[in-house]
Amino acid sequence: MSEQPEKMVGAYLPGDSTVEFKEYEIPELRHGEVLIRTKASTICGSDIRCIYNEHLGKGPEAYQHEMVAGHEPAGQVVAVGPGMREFKEGDRVVVYHISGCGLCNDCRRGYQISCTSEKYRKAYGWQRHGGMAPYIVAEEKDLVHLPEALTYADGAQVACGFGTVYEGLEKIGISGNDAVLITGLGPVGLAAAMLCRCLGANNIIGIEAVPERVEIARKLPLRMGDDSVKLFDTVLQAGPNNVEDVRA
Ligand SMILES: [Zn+2]
Ligand SMILES: [Zn+2]
Repeated sequence: MSEQPEKMVGAYLPGDSTVEFKEYEIPELRHGEVLIRTKASTICGSDIRCIYNEHLGKGPEAYQHEMVAGHEPAGQVVAVGPGMREFKEGDRVVVYHISGCGLCNDCRRGYQISCTSEKYRKAYGWQRHGGMAPYIVAEEKDLVHLPEALTYADGAQVACGFGTVYEGLEKIGISGNDAVLITGLGPVGLAAAMLCRCLGANNIIGIEAVPERVEIARKLPLRMGDDSVKLFDTVLQAGPNNVEDVRA
């Protein structure tokens, strides 16, 4: 990028059901940092909690006042600082939502989310600026290449929601031997169903209380290569007979 902008307007969450805009400086890139043009940034359940309620969380995991919100960003690298090892200008990327120290036991095992460094563990959109702005400064080690087959909106979904549920499914070890019951069919529940279908689950049942979400889940197809398959085998409206319905 020929000219790096110096300022931008970003959104932060002051609590009490509001979102505010503020002008932010775009700092000079340091070693290992990239500047990303934000292309998509999704809203997480934890952001909703932040928008509609007082800010929760204490200590190092609390939302820091006036941090640009949004920990699920995807975009394109437009400038790089010194010392890049893998990424370059023009790359399409997803930003993993937590930046860890990179050196503690958890970071070295790939679990930056449970990084034990109080000083260096910072979640984008919580303790360092996130994706609800035209640009985001991220660390190269937090980036994941976004394949051409996926849109930036897909990438933003992967940054937190899909990744979170995928880790859970990996731990359980879902395979073609399994039938899966998913309660709650919001974005993460739908992601769970998509991943379970791809992992081969033989029967996927969803339960949801909101009628509109039940309708969406019933209609949604899942594209697998050139084929379109049913996302759920059965979708049930939440109610007192669900246990009998599932057994049936
Ligand atoms: Zn999230
Ligand atoms: Zn760490």
